[in-house]
Amino acid sequence: MRYRKLKADYLFTGEKLLNNEHVLITNFNGEIINIIEAKDAGEEIETFEGILSPGFINAHCHLELSHLKNIIQEKTGLVDFVFKVVTQRHFAEEEILYAIEKGEEEMLENGIIAVGDICNNNLTVSQKIKKNLHYYNFIETSGWLPEIASVRVERAKNIFNDFENHGLKSSIVPHAPYSVSENLWNEMISFFSGETISIHNQETAQEDLFFLEGKGDFTKMFELMKIDNSFYKSKKMRSVESYFKNLASAKSVILVHNTFTKQHDLDFINEYKNKEQLVSFCLCPNANLYIENALPPVDLFLKNDCQIILGTDSLASNHQLNILEEIKTIVKSFSEIKTETLLKWATINGAKALQMENELGSFEKGKKPGIILIQSVEDGKITGGSKVRNLE
Ligand SMILES: [Zn+2]
Repeated sequence: MRYRKLKADYLFTGEKLLNNEHVLITNFNGEIINIIEAKDAGEEIETFEGILSPGFINAHCHLELSHLKNIIQEKTGLVDFVFKVVTQRHFAEEEILYAIEKGEEEMLENGIIAVGDICNNNLTVSQKIKKNLHYYNFIETSGWLPEIASVRVERAKNIFNDFENHGLKSSIVPHAPYSVSENLWNEMISFFSGETISIHNQETAQEDLFFLEGKGDFTKMFELMKIDNSFYKSKKMRSVESYFKNLASAKSVILVHNTFTKQHDLDFINEYKNKEQLVSFCLCPNANLYIENALPPVDLFLKNDCQIILGTDSLASNHQLNILEEIKTIVKSFSEIKTETLLKWATINGAKALQMENELGSFEKGKKPGIILIQSVEDGKITGGSKVRNLE
């Protein structure tokens, strides 16, 4: 069998950033054979400038919203954003399908190999069955009015079945704490067992205000959407306290955004999480800047040794679907974080959260994780000018 031998200034294995004395050996199908020392690698080594890395994992996207690129105004806050997505997402189907195809193409070009993708309909199925990327499909369910819970769960089950019947891995997930009623939680809980379950969490400071005091912008949103919120009585709990225990049977939990997460939220999660389960904090900094003009407290998650993963969110709230751009935004505000740490978030951590670590996320023997080159790095650090190139 013939092998490829790849070497660069740095080799990121999925766990460690090694220097240029290491060579990655693969076969021509992209399967990892080994990492060996350069002095033992013989001849015909392909040599590059930059960092060799496994393909990126985009742990949070909404591919089905790709047609909303440049439609929704920036920095107007989450409540306004959600209202606009709900009311403005309806386009001609062919336009939506074309944008989905282009969105996937963009992710491929940007070195992404797998996606945790939110689905409110089955419009992405025709693209996903081409298997250009790995997907974990989160069939999103919402409904604040208690009486619509059964209808919403039935709808989600139909979409779920459509994905699964096409061989696309899926789970039924809650949209966000403020859009899922007690009734809906109760009807959904049995679907979580053993799955990866994602939920949008604390994307705005208004979320805790609503759960603690029953007021703020979310009451205005319900009015705008003509949803009668009069049944709701605040339990005087923070958002995380109000729902987190519902996720106990999930094998992996992905909390998305966490822009306004505080130490007591992390303490609560630590205390009540199922000890067998993985809880990941998915950061989507460019979307947070786009919508709320805020960044998540990255240092808080680091201090608490949280499992951090990265997502792009959708083209409705981002200018690109590019994990390296998310890293660059973090580096701008948190320049002390090591490249090795950032790349772990973008690769092996995301693969674990999506339960894809047996095949993706690191250069371990037998995996096919994608091979990318991060170019224009300075002393092993990702800079504003860094770019991604696929080597497969
Ligand atoms: Zn989202």
